[in-house]
Amino acid sequence: MAAAMGAPVSGGRAAAAVWQEVGERVFRRRYRSFDLNVGAVLGDDEVLLIDTRSWRAEAQELLADLRALTALPCRQVVNTHAHFDHCFGNVVFRPAAFWGHRRCAGNLREHGERQRRNVIGWYPDAAADLAALELVPPDRLVDERATVEVGGRRVELSHLGRGHTDNDLVAIVPDAGVTFAGDLIEEGAPPSFGDAWPLEWAVTLERLLDRATPAVVPGHGDVAGRELIAAQAGEQRAMAALCAQVLAGRQTVEEALRRAPYPAETARMALERARVTSMPIDSTGPRP
Ligand SMILES: [Zn+2]
Repeated sequence: MAAAMGAPVSGGRAAAAVWQEVGERVFRRRYRSFDLNVGAVLGDDEVLLIDTRSWRAEAQELLADLRALTALPCRQVVNTHAHFDHCFGNVVFRPAAFWGHRRCAGNLREHGERQRRNVIGWYPDAAADLAALELVPPDRLVDERATVEVGGRRVELSHLGRGHTDNDLVAIVPDAGVTFAGDLIEEGAPPSFGDAWPLEWAVTLERLLDRATPAVVPGHGDVAGRELIAAQAGEQRAMAALCAQVLAGRQTVEEALRRAPYPAETARMALERARVTSMPIDSTGPRP
């Protein structure tokens, strides 16, 4: 989800609210709220959790669901990026170690309060929960790659470049053939560009395609395969080309919107983010 795009839609599409084994002892659970996927990787003596949901009540429900899946302790958590629906529930899983990209931690420290205010505005029913929430940034920081040992198995964490955000982390479980792609891939809805890097996202997805396993769990929506990454890389390539044309003055915004592979609102955000992210770093100023 993209914090800067306006309120993400909670609920909506049908969601299977049970753990689904997508690879050997690797599970995902799809929540109706935000159509969000979380992951659980079971090792011999511990379980690794991938993403923690949006606020305390949601995270506590997740913790209870995790306890129903396994009695193994959860000592390690991965945050795929700094958006609230993936990491605001961290506090409930303390004293676990939290893996995340270095900029995910920096973003939560510098802009977490602004994100909290936005989310409270979008979801007033959760305002009291959110207002009292301690935001817990990752403390196991990843720049490009890290290997997490989970009770005798390996989980590979990679930052493959900027895309949905500047801090997207992909978690691959090689022995199970499962890739948790975070919001670099979105199933059933257009990608979220609110904090995105539209000129670079396609290249990042091509790197992901080089590494991805047969089963791909997106940050939201149904489990997919490598073909969804290939399709979305193609769309992102087309969108990046349109962004470049508009930035160079060779095409109007209206022409680009007509040709875009996404709905107008999504494409308009992509064009705007391409403009902002292509400016020199000290002239972008604070974003609203
Ligand atoms: Zn997101």
